[in-house]
Amino acid sequence: MRVLQVASEAVPFAKTGGLADVAGALPAALATLGCETTLVIPAHRESLAKGLPIEPTGLEFEVPIGTRRLPARILRAHLPRAACPVFLVANDELFDRPTLYGGPEDYPDNSERFIFFCRAALELAGREAHAFDVIHCHDWQTGLIPAYQKLLYRAWPALAGARTVMTVHNMSYQGLFWHWDMLLTGIEWKHFNWQEMEFHDQLNLLKTGLVFADAITTVSPTYAREIQGWPGGCGLEGVLAARSDALEGIVNGIDTAAWDPSADPHIPRHYSADDFEEGKYAARVALAARLGHAAPDPRPLVAFVGRLAFQKGVDLLVELLARMGASGRARFIVLGTGEPGLEEGVRRAAAACPGTIDAVIGFDEGLAHLVQAAADITLVPSRFEPCGLTQLYAFRYGSIPVVRATGGLVDTVIDTTTETLADGTASGFTFEPIDPGALEHAVRRALDCHEDRERWRWLVRRVMRQDWSWDASARAYLRLYERIIAAPPARTP
Ligand code: ADP
Repeated sequence: MRVLQVASEAVPFAKTGGLADVAGALPAALATLGCETTLVIPAHRESLAKGLPIEPTGLEFEVPIGTRRLPARILRAHLPRAACPVFLVANDELFDRPTLYGGPEDYPDNSERFIFFCRAALELAGREAHAFDVIHCHDWQTGLIPAYQKLLYRAWPALAGARTVMTVHNMSYQGLFWHWDMLLTGIEWKHFNWQEMEFHDQLNLLKTGLVFADAITTVSPTYAREIQGWPGGCGLEGVLAARSDALEGIVNGIDTAAWDPSADPHIPRHYSADDFEEGKYAARVALAARLGHAAPDPRPLVAFVGRLAFQKGVDLLVELLARMGASGRARFIVLGTGEPGLEEGVRRAAAACPGTIDAVIGFDEGLAHLVQAAADITLVPSRFEPCGLTQLYAFRYGSIPVVRATGGLVDTVIDTTTETLADGTASGFTFEPIDPGALEHAVRRALDCHEDRERWRWLVRRVMRQDWSWDASARAYLRLYERIIAAPPARTP
């Protein structure tokens, strides 16, 4: 089977979020399972500046964008430790920029940039001697590809027989642009209608992908259900409900080599489920030194690592810190960057309880590993969470997650109750209402459980021994590919 993966970012080349982790790891896992996989990404400045082995191919062609023809130069690299070639589409005018998408405002020409990228990816794949069976697209930046494949590239032998998959990593980013950008796509105006590419008078690239793809996936079964309704669907719930037969949720895996307490270069003492207490103690000592404390705090350590965003429930976290900071039951650490108001809230909460709460405002991959290794409890109070990786990293490092019961958190964390302790499935603590009191209650349940040393030891060993590697997820994608290859293409509306 030949599969083309297309994404706007992928580890180790460029990353702004979880999408890059998936786009780097899934192709590698598929290749390991014997699936012939090729990845196409843009040649962002960030990708080229890292000193990774990237070579020119000599292949150049022009891509029609509206009335212009823009040059695409193709570079070639490999995913580390995997037999998966990576093609990078270079166009300096569009991708040689300081950040991937702009910021704080998006780049004004993001539609042009990713319309170009979608077409360039197909023009490149279409020049290959062997046909592709599946074209797997990730997020709005690649949303035009399923439409292009069905409407403009039907006659290209390498593309004609392919089935397309559209994967949604987060419904709240849809690639919405003004309707005149339709002219840049080269697709006929008749497709600018509410059943295909239009969303309230605007061009919606994610919707286009959802409508034209042969299969749709998202990153957990619960999120797949949530996005068919309000508010999870972010306005596209009707489109998704209409295509529910084609929609499936597959939980992401994690990179078990990068996140491995038995080999992690970021932690002072390697450990496994058998000797986690020694490993975690050493991490606590190292973390205390790093934060400038005289000695590690003997209280249980409760951590939050992630974007300081409203989506992540950081407002609930700030309220929790205000409520529990003075209680003396636990030590807290927050590592994150994000929305200025939430950063300020976290800073203020820490300043109010200097001996109990640490706030590290910044992005620090190594520190994230050390914090997970040191922590007893990891908080993920998200309002919505398509899959979530933090709770899976917490498992691996023997930190017990306390999570809001939403999206992928439901599919990965089993609340600790008398029943789930009895049947051995317990793996964390969950709460439902978007409310600081509910979060606090769940944290207190976790702290109560922590006091029962034998029970806690059992729980930590159990979560550390779970398998969240990419292997199982990649197999689920393979089964999906096999199914859609065997079926006729989905009918366009
Ligand atoms: P999302 O992709 O929505 O941000 P995920 O849970 O899927 O959330 O992935 C978040 C990833 O980013 C995790 O690997 C987490 O450890 C990492 N991360 C987030 N913020 C920081 C930070 N400030 N420092 C280090 N790592 C961070």
